[in-house]
Amino acid sequence: MSESVDLQAMLRAAREQLAGRSDSAGLDAELLLAAALGKPRSFLYAWPDHQPTSSVRERFADSIRARAAGQPVAYTLGSKEFFGLDLAVTPAVLIPRPDTELLVEQVLERLDAGSTATIADLGTGSGAVALALARHLPAARVLGTDSSAEALKVARANARELRLEVDFLRGDWCAPLGDASVDVLVANPPYVAEGDPHLAELAAEPLAALVSGPEGLDALRTIIGQSPRVLRTGGWLVLEHGFDQGGAVRTLLAEAGFSGVTSARDLGGHERVSLGHRP
Ligand code: GLN
Repeated sequence: MSESVDLQAMLRAAREQLAGRSDSAGLDAELLLAAALGKPRSFLYAWPDHQPTSSVRERFADSIRARAAGQPVAYTLGSKEFFGLDLAVTPAVLIPRPDTELLVEQVLERLDAGSTATIADLGTGSGAVALALARHLPAARVLGTDSSAEALKVARANARELRLEVDFLRGDWCAPLGDASVDVLVANPPYVAEGDPHLAELAAEPLAALVSGPEGLDALRTIIGQSPRVLRTGGWLVLEHGFDQGGAVRTLLAEAGFSGVTSARDLGGHERVSLGHRP
């Protein structure tokens, strides 16, 4: 006795349900409806008056309810696109952000496509940065470290799925690298300050991947402190940070003896990545 409802009507109702709860209500509704149907998003435009089965409607209703309660779309879909890679994500890992593609670009700008450099991604999470680098630098040796065993499971599954070779090691930042001599260290560490109101929107993601001390600088400071030990002479340290942390991170890099310290801006025009090399 269920009345028939078409895709167009379902999207309209879902957009209304998400209004004020998501700043991308229309897109979220489309992605979740396409997933509930098991079809590409283009299906929604091609067949707006398609009337899905009740099981599709229930699946969609559940996912819209979860989204309205704060669950990110990527966790419902179980995947997120990053630097052209389709990555599996779970609540054990931070969802890769478009801004982090700048981090990958800054490393790629400094190496040849045939580079045999050793690169380590610290706090690799889903493996996003390490895997993007492995894809574009097939001759490089890429390592990824993370303190979370659950995150490393996700990263290893992504490497298998994408057929990319990255060695994932468990431990804090540089610790699992031992006395390795690395050409490039790259990291998107937690850099949000404790108590930052912005955290309310990020409640579904792992706190350890987001928050780091009263100014959000604790992990960045630790990594900058550890890195000269594992970085070869001339090697680069490339760090993502908050939109207002460029000055602080450049100072930390300079104090730790790095040369050529500079920052790069993200799509929003904010300083987002700072780097230097070990003289
Ligand atoms: N860029 C993320 C955000 O503010 C934070 C990621 C991080 O702390 N590494 O949404």
